[in-house]
Amino acid sequence: MNLQFSQLPLRQELQASLSKAGFSKMTPIQAQALPELLNGKDVVAQAKTGSGKTLAFSLAVLQALDSSTQQIQGLILAPTRELASQVADEVRKLAKSLANIKVLTICGGEPIGPQISSLEHGAHIVVGTPGRIEEHLFKGTLDLTGVSHFVLDEADQMLEMGFIDAIENIAVYLSPTRQTMMFSATYPKDIEKLATQFMHSPEVVKGETEA
Ligand code: ADP
Ligand code: MG
Repeated sequence: MNLQFSQLPLRQELQASLSKAGFSKMTPIQAQALPELLNGKDVVAQAKTGSGKTLAFSLAVLQALDSSTQQIQGLILAPTRELASQVADEVRKLAKSLANIKVLTICGGEPIGPQISSLEHGAHIVVGTPGRIEEHLFKGTLDLTGVSHFVLDEADQMLEMGFIDAIENIAVYLSPTRQTMMFSATYPKDIEKLATQFMHSPEVVKGETEA
């Protein structure tokens, strides 16, 4: 199996970020998901907490990004503000080698006004919680028409928290030709249902699962 990041067809800048961070060997879920993701496939990836799922989708989103246009191209949904900011930190770290990539965190529990001004200034990637993203869409303060990469992170947790309606409403605003990827620590029946609802013949890959 393809186990080293250096064997992946990743852009040079991302290879540089990976070396700088000291990542050389892929975790099992990365080794299974990344070749499919870089081929543009929809992917459902299940692996236990701590298995490196964030890096897998972050690389897939950044690989495809065009920083010359000021359009949101990647949308990453996470269940909580804390998880969203952790993801945003990791994406920003990887994006440092690419010129001028703007990553915004848009979460609930924070005043909406400053978020609206940040969005007006433009961003390439938005990481947020479903409720607040939905709110911006309803207000017309978030344009997702250019999103080519849609990530549902910690999907099982988002379902448990009752975000299904918000996720459904958000998906309506996205292009049907986008790539969708779903990451989850567990793979209950409702995740399978979510996958058939939002994805085009997804590849299902599993790393190490919860004991
Ligand atoms: P998950 O989302 O699957 O729970 P994370 O993406 O948060 O896991 O990753 C857990 C930790 O593993 C992070 O500190 C991350 O930097 C580290 N990590 C990810 N991929 C690798 C890798 N290929 N080699 C070494 N460490 C890694
Ligand atoms: Mg995670």
